[in-house]
Amino acid sequence: MKWQGRRASTNVEDRRGISSKALMGGGIGTIILALVVMLMGGNPLEYIGSLTGPDTPYEETAEHRELAEFSMVVLAETEDVWAEIFSKELGANYRDPTLVIYSGYVESACGAANASVGPFYCPGDEKIYLDLDFFTELKEQFHAPGDFAMAYVIAHEVGHHVQHQLGIIDEVYSYRGRVSGAEFNKLLVKMELQADYFAGVWAHYADRARLLEEGDIEEALNAAMMIGDDRIQMDTWGYVVPDRFTHGTSEQRSSWFLRGFKSGTIEDGDTFNAPELND
Ligand SMILES: [Zn+2]
Repeated sequence: MKWQGRRASTNVEDRRGISSKALMGGGIGTIILALVVMLMGGNPLEYIGSLTGPDTPYEETAEHRELAEFSMVVLAETEDVWAEIFSKELGANYRDPTLVIYSGYVESACGAANASVGPFYCPGDEKIYLDLDFFTELKEQFHAPGDFAMAYVIAHEVGHHVQHQLGIIDEVYSYRGRVSGAEFNKLLVKMELQADYFAGVWAHYADRARLLEEGDIEEALNAAMMIGDDRIQMDTWGYVVPDRFTHGTSEQRSSWFLRGFKSGTIEDGDTFNAPELND
């Protein structure tokens, strides 16, 4: 992705190196991280964050410096694109989200989290939480290298912010407890696939602005494949339990990203009424 020298967003909170003790004044136990939407992994409502934060001071490496700059540029590009789409397609104003860059441990309006949960979005404060070390994990553990794999991760979380503004996250969570766990998980999958779709919509505009380089879309598609529920379950447990999918299969995630990339509109991204996602 051609990102160097482009505008960096100022909607950023740099919380790297802030220790948990400074924030919490001692141990409080655990807080349930409620109503967050994540890039991958289990049901976010079941997540219990441990409040043991890191005590080691943070020192920025040259690599992190570049990753932070990259993230701020990608965020700025999403701001421009979504403002345009909201205005054009909905006649509405887009509210920019804030990107919180942290190291190891963070507090959000959704509760406390450590980096093991991966990047997430909290609707309660409209912030995206990102530990830059996740990008190393993406490359090394998930075998999803490339700058556009990282851009996809940010664009996916921004996709949740778009959903929040459209009232979709609240609607999905209103079904919690009213439908079975398996049915609710299906709704979560549709919500996640729509965030992947919205990431693709952003890529459509990035392509139009000539920011894409050879292989960028493949990097994003590969990342979407690598963090599919089926693949992660297989790697973790050695078998696959579709009722416990919360984010969609590798095939679904990459194909909805591609659909968004081809379409470039909100309108074509109704995963909730997509026939292939309803049995
Ligand atoms: Zn997500």
